[in-house]
Amino acid sequence: MKNNLNDMPSEEFRKTGYQLVDWITDYLKEIENYPPLSKVNPGDILKRIPQSPPRKGEDIENVLKDVDKILLDGITHWNHPGFMAYFNSTSSGPGILAEFLTAALSVNGMLWKTSPAFTEHEKAMMNWFRQMVGLPENYWGIIYDTASTSSMHAITSAREQLNFGFREKGMAGRNDIPRLRIYCSEHAHSSIEKGAVTLGIGLEGVRKIPVNDKFEMIPEKLEAAINVDLKNGWKPFCAVATVGTTSTTSVDPVEEIASICEKHKLWLHIDSAYAGVTAMIPEMKWITKGWQRADSIVINPHKWMFTPMDLSIYFTRKPEILKQAFSLVPEYLKTKQDEEVENLMDYGIQLGRRFRSLKLWFIIRYFGVEGLSKRINHHIELAKEFAKWIDDEKEFERLAPVPFSTVCFRYSPENKTEEELNKLNEKLLEDINASGKIFLSHTKINGKFVIRLTVGSIRHERGHIEGAWKLIQYLSEKLK
Ligand SMILES: *Cc1c(COP(=O)(O)O)cnc(C)c1O
Repeated sequence: MKNNLNDMPSEEFRKTGYQLVDWITDYLKEIENYPPLSKVNPGDILKRIPQSPPRKGEDIENVLKDVDKILLDGITHWNHPGFMAYFNSTSSGPGILAEFLTAALSVNGMLWKTSPAFTEHEKAMMNWFRQMVGLPENYWGIIYDTASTSSMHAITSAREQLNFGFREKGMAGRNDIPRLRIYCSEHAHSSIEKGAVTLGIGLEGVRKIPVNDKFEMIPEKLEAAINVDLKNGWKPFCAVATVGTTSTTSVDPVEEIASICEKHKLWLHIDSAYAGVTAMIPEMKWITKGWQRADSIVINPHKWMFTPMDLSIYFTRKPEILKQAFSLVPEYLKTKQDEEVENLMDYGIQLGRRFRSLKLWFIIRYFGVEGLSKRINHHIELAKEFAKWIDDEKEFERLAPVPFSTVCFRYSPENKTEEELNKLNEKLLEDINASGKIFLSHTKINGKFVIRLTVGSIRHERGHIEGAWKLIQYLSEKLK
């Protein structure tokens, strides 16, 4: 049957396609039958996969069967409503369908010409999303894979803005330029440091600014750090304000940071990878205070807008600097329309690009801005409720404010030392995750081992959060 030299025959594709859609439908419907966190040991899955590829083609049915047999128990089910770890990315029906279509079209949006609908659709979606989060019209948007990539492009733009000839001369071996410094809070995401590593700024070029008791950057400390650096010959060039930090979801004071950036001519980048989507909710508009003063902002729909991995949105007021940093057009990529269109390959390190904006189209149109806002707001309300249960329970302690949908807490029975509490909570988290009912993650705040619970799955209902709380209480009792 596999002796033709073409693709899978259409009728076979149709039949298998329906089968796969059935599989996905049942999987999502019955997802709560699985434990959210995979229990396999390292190497278990690898052992099940033949070491060499098959010489002859196999029946696609066998491949589908092996998804169950080989992979499924090694899957951590991010779509499971018991998944309350990290920031849970969940996918939605319309998002999954769009992803399917993206693969079928398989267009590469490197140039306008390589698919006009791609470039113009992405532009339209950026315009929609810009309005959804309330950014002014002078913000230009582009889709990258992850926030790490978006922030790396922000730091590149900040560096390019200095006009030190980095594009031509690079950074190494030069004594005509000072060392560069970028600022972020102690609670900023590690992607900022990775960006600095990638761009030759180095970890020493990242200065972490202390936070207050609500884990927000202290602007006076930022200003002081810049002044000390200037005195010592560093070149401050960029500051990152985080709106929704990864550990505690704290919000840096953007207005104050913006004033300092304006005074010292620093690029201001806002990292709102997780929390940015909440800006579409009227009651949450406060988080966007000062955003119009930022040079760039990153928001990830793949975190809390029911978008399958991956999709990160990067907005900037200065797309021309991005283009100045990255545009290189070899002869074979020149087109007649270059003067009148945007070729997205000019705005980043990648040439080829996936048709990710389709996911936004399907999701935003299916749920509507109102439907999305209501779902996200529901998660915020559930998290606030969970936080209240923690506050009302004498033997538990909440360790950070809850501006969004993430609650940091610990079990803290009386008469225990900090060290004992850390051990106790580490054990409690292990027991919680071994239960096979829910999956939570942890962080360390000021040396304290903290359990984190995030609400944000499109499948989250009140019962799931109540169930989680009952389980946590039950397992903590058993530790006595
Ligand atoms: C999750 C997160 C990131 C990293 O996101 P990726 O898309 O996985 O690169 C960066 N910053 C913040 C604040 C985050 O919450």
